[in-house]
Amino acid sequence: GHKPDTILETRSLVKRFGAFLANEGISLSIRRGEIHAILGENGAGKSTLMNMLCGMLVPDEGEIRFRGRPVRFTSPGQAMEAGIGMVHQHFMLIPALTVAENVVLGMKGRSPLFRLKEACAEIRRLSERFGLEVEPERLLGDLSVGQQQRVEIVKTLYRGAEFIVLDEPTAVLTPPEVQDLFRVLSALKAQGKTIIFISHKLQEVQAICDRVTVLRLGRLAGTLEMKDTNPAEIARLMIGRDVRAP
Ligand code: ADP
Ligand code: MG
Repeated sequence: GHKPDTILETRSLVKRFGAFLANEGISLSIRRGEIHAILGENGAGKSTLMNMLCGMLVPDEGEIRFRGRPVRFTSPGQAMEAGIGMVHQHFMLIPALTVAENVVLGMKGRSPLFRLKEACAEIRRLSERFGLEVEPERLLGDLSVGQQQRVEIVKTLYRGAEFIVLDEPTAVLTPPEVQDLFRVLSALKAQGKTIIFISHKLQEVQAICDRVTVLRLGRLAGTLEMKDTNPAEIARLMIGRDVRAP
């Protein structure tokens, strides 16, 4: 049958902090254009794995392949150049600057602020295209947390991200803001972007994701198709036993 197009693959990834194994032999495969959840309890190793994908951490062992080629990022900038963007739990934005200034900040090349007018136009285009409702001229400090998070998303898109990792993006959001984010994620997916959605909340993962990979104690417990599974099966992988058993 037709084999779905794989955009990113990891092979036996290992990450240690001292003697502690935060990730042990993680092999997973992400399909182009899917919303793929990484689910696991606090401390399961989700952020560690994602930080390796986006160049914040270098694996101790194993391999990452992106678009069919082995990659070894030693900085987030390198991952971003390859098309991998990350939205962290804690935003890296400056309240006293405008949205557009925040978006272009830290980009390579000659004085990006020189091109602020073009940046504003591009941000408006991206905002329109993905339903982000981000206004480039507003002061960042005046925005809600949900809006600030969407500025972080625009930042990755502006840099050409095709593959976007969001680390527990709903943790800081109100329920209506979660719905706004889910609409944005759907629009990103509809236009071919690949999304990694990290969460420890089963309900959210069910609501938005195509597949889920469960991590438990630094190991991969399984990858499931959302349409072929049920909450009890996922929960069992998460905590390592049948949740209904006495
Ligand atoms: P999750 O994101 O699933 O909550 P993490 O990947 O952040 O889990 O962490 C997995 C484990 O690795 C935790 O026990 C955490 O304390 C440990 N850990 C994470 N980062 C570091 C670090 N920089 N130094 C030492 N231990 C770490
Ligand atoms: Mg985490």
